[in-house]
Amino acid sequence: MKCPRCDSEKVRVMTKSPVGNAWEVYVCDKCIYSWRSTEEIKISSTFRLDDKKIAEMGEIPPVPPLKGA
Ligand SMILES: [Zn+2]
Repeated sequence: MKCPRCDSEKVRVMTKSPVGNAWEVYVCDKCIYSWRSTEEIKISSTFRLDDKKIAEMGEIPPVPPLKGA
């Protein structure tokens, strides 16, 4: 199975439905995309990722400390 967002094959099952094998949730270890087996995935080319886009991503802005914590 390939990740629908970045085409990586490093996809694993994150969780399964608690009853009846109704669905599984997969997660991509490369871009952290996750999706349910019952979804019909359509990712616009704008949101697809490749190695170049991932390398050029900025850092996620840090969350400031809570006031009074
Ligand atoms: Zn991915």
